[in-house]
Amino acid sequence: MPSTQAPPKSTDVVVIGGGIIGCATAYYLSKQGVSVVLCEKGKIAGEQSSRNWGFIRKQGRDAAELPLMIHSLELWEALVPQMPDDVGFHRGGTLYLSDDEKRYESNQKWLALSKDFDLDTRFLGLSELSALVPDLHGQTRGALFTASDARAEPEKATLGIADLARKQGAKILENTAVRGIELCAGRVSGVVTESGPIATSTVVCAGGVWSSFFLRHLDLIFPQLKVIGSVMSTEPGPLVTQQSIWSNGLGMRRRSDGGYSIAYGGSFDCEVTPDHLRFFRQFIPAYKAGKEEVSLRFTTRFLTELVRSTKPDFDKISPYERERALNPAPNLKLLAQAKNKLSEVFPPLKDIKITNRWAGMIDATPDELPAICEVPSVPGLILSSGYSGHGFGIGPGAGKVTAELAMGSKPTVNLDAFKLERLVRA
Ligand SMILES: Cc1cc2nc3c(=O)[nH]c(=O)nc-3n(C[C@H](O)[C@H](O)[C@H](O)COP(=O)(O)OP(=O)(O)OC[C@H]3O[C@@H](n4cnc5c(N)ncnc54)[C@H](O)[C@@H]3O)c2cc1C
Repeated sequence: MPSTQAPPKSTDVVVIGGGIIGCATAYYLSKQGVSVVLCEKGKIAGEQSSRNWGFIRKQGRDAAELPLMIHSLELWEALVPQMPDDVGFHRGGTLYLSDDEKRYESNQKWLALSKDFDLDTRFLGLSELSALVPDLHGQTRGALFTASDARAEPEKATLGIADLARKQGAKILENTAVRGIELCAGRVSGVVTESGPIATSTVVCAGGVWSSFFLRHLDLIFPQLKVIGSVMSTEPGPLVTQQSIWSNGLGMRRRSDGGYSIAYGGSFDCEVTPDHLRFFRQFIPAYKAGKEEVSLRFTTRFLTELVRSTKPDFDKISPYERERALNPAPNLKLLAQAKNKLSEVFPPLKDIKITNRWAGMIDATPDELPAICEVPSVPGLILSSGYSGHGFGIGPGAGKVTAELAMGSKPTVNLDAFKLERLVRA
């Protein structure tokens, strides 16, 4: 159903997408008194931003993202007290178990990197680890630990940021798909939504997994694919760890309701789409590096995406309205394996009941870094997308610098690593 709320005729900035990136961008724009309209085709946090694990971590990130992530954690601390509802923000730390040789080596490598950023990351040997998490069982050589990392409830936090933006005057329109961007003399002049046009000189594309397809109507290429991550939640249970844990076969986080979010760490399904053929070359190195983590599947998704027109007729219903929220089926086999692993690693949780299972489409770029940049060939267009499975924690920081780009001011954090040109000539 399209929104019953008519969009305003004009605004300074239109943000496309009501995930954490779009909502945080709208928040920081409205904080500076900029008039902003955020258009979301479905509900706020209907896709990745409500379905993720809720890790807010520096640990394990690419060095290029660390300055922005460090800043993002400061912003979380400032945002959370302004929210009337508890969004489960807690600095419990992140623990990566070294439960096989490969993980031990990558943990040691990242420990060395953390020194360059003066982080509180340490490698815990077995005695320190069992003092911190006495209920933890199973074979491991120790764990990489960053105590200052945090966690939060993804949906509540994203809705909280959207509410703060609204209070500052941002107009947030749900069920309002943007069908396309209009140009005048080569630069952005407005958008066409399913409920009518909005004139604007600046558009932020924060469309999550949809960004690559969306940009194609402007003849822009953004190499981006999607994989499916499956997750489940448990009933409230004994407190076995405050740390968000990632290990061979288990990702877990304590929830604010006293249960846990559980996943099979580092395994994803991938429905083959025409974009896999289109971006085959760019993604070969990423696929080779992580191929044991991804299971390719041939499904009807290929056909669904093949028949969509990339040159939209703005007067007709668009693919964004046909799929208000991507809702892939969770992989029950992987989740059963994760449950077994949970019982093995935390025996006190062996009888805990599963209350919900879900999955989310995760967007990924070839180098697993986002694009946060002006699009040089389309003045007035800012891209903030491709957060590659770790955009929740960095969301406030990413939203802040995206807003700065949209205002034409110098970003608080250097964004050279996030230009679109690194992936493709823009
Ligand atoms: C299973 C899973 C686990 C994850 N775990 C973590 C984690 O622990 N920590 C972490 O930091 N990150 C994690 N992530 C990644 C994180 O969730 C994403 O990187 C982040 O939410 C991306 O936010 P976004 O705003 O870019 O995208 P999204 O949240 O997907 O939002 C994009 C929005 O744009 C809307 N949209 C698209 N096109 C249009 C259009 N034309 N008009 C209007 N609206 C449009 C969509 O409907 C959507 O709501 C995980 C993701 C998943 C799925």
